[in-house]
Amino acid sequence: MNSIPVNEPLIGNNAAKYVAECVESGWVSSEGRFIGEFEGAWASFCGGKEGVAVNSGTAALEIAVAALELEPGSEVILPSYTIICCATAVIAAGCTPVLVDCDSNTWCMDVNAVADKITPHTRAIMPVHIFGHPVDMDPLMALADKHGLAVVEDAAESHGAEYKGKRVGAIGDLGCFSFYANKIITTGEGGMVVARDGTHTERLRYLRNMCFRSDRRFRHTELGRNFRITNLQAAIGLSQVEAVESHIEKKRWMGSTYGEQLEEEPHLALPVERDWAKNVYWMYGVVLDDEVPFEAEEFASRLAAKGIATRPFFVGMHEQPVLRERGLFESESYPVTERIARRGLYLPSGLTLTEEQIGQVCEAVKTVLSDF
Ligand SMILES: *Cc1c(COP(=O)(O)O)cnc(C)c1O
Repeated sequence: MNSIPVNEPLIGNNAAKYVAECVESGWVSSEGRFIGEFEGAWASFCGGKEGVAVNSGTAALEIAVAALELEPGSEVILPSYTIICCATAVIAAGCTPVLVDCDSNTWCMDVNAVADKITPHTRAIMPVHIFGHPVDMDPLMALADKHGLAVVEDAAESHGAEYKGKRVGAIGDLGCFSFYANKIITTGEGGMVVARDGTHTERLRYLRNMCFRSDRRFRHTELGRNFRITNLQAAIGLSQVEAVESHIEKKRWMGSTYGEQLEEEPHLALPVERDWAKNVYWMYGVVLDDEVPFEAEEFASRLAAKGIATRPFFVGMHEQPVLRERGLFESESYPVTERIARRGLYLPSGLTLTEEQIGQVCEAVKTVLSDF
């Protein structure tokens, strides 16, 4: 039996034509018309003023935090439940990551926990829109305003998700996207920082390009790295912006199809959609309730035996050996994160998933959960 893949990319219709143009014209490296067009098209889709495209979502986060020019030792508040590159970006900028737990329903940063973590050293907040659901941004933006904090959104999983009718990525000062193969749109590898008001864009471009100065090339006043994207990737990217609405529709169809088939299942928490949110269901995550006598790892292997591939949830930042070794988050506990990290996984969520495959996945889930 062929197993159902967890995720498969879809590429925009014009990708081959645009890429051929790069190849035929010789513009294959980090200059060429598609880079600016992709940046402009994506920034405007998000409702932001400018975009700076880079070679990964990790790079986007790194230059976004670096663009803020925070003093060393500044604190940045982020969710415990996220991917490690959020913490890496903060540490790379010489700052200290400070965690808050996540909400047990949206799995996004618990915005009510942020105020208590603000100290005289706090300079920024990094909300992460998890699995396609937006963070509750208004209370965060109000806190940021009150305390003069920058807001860097990590929207790598939530292309086109909406908070109160506004697309994510241009609500905070800067928004970071990934275009890795499993994201809602892909350029193979790639990322972008969207600048809501266009501020920081000059510095973002400078940080993307090894901190080359315009006054004297090869004379550097800051250590930079190479985060440039190629015209080839941007060519695919432009075709993806043209396709993004249909990808989002497909994800939302997937979300509601799973929802209809699994809502009666008593032992599973399913993704939610708050009334102020448009969830784009990047991944269809599920969390086992306390009555199930096994954890997600065992659930995953029972599903794998039925031909269903899954992926585990993130491991909390405070449970990362590499961060604990640095003396971070000592004796801190984030119970919601700990629980979903152990009890959650995501089901096949690719853009090519069929109704029949969703049916097979749901059958397998129900069988496994009726068996204890
Ligand atoms: C995928 C992802 C990233 C990293 O993007 P890459 O392009 O893989 O470097 C960052 N943040 C979140 C929340 C992600 O899901």
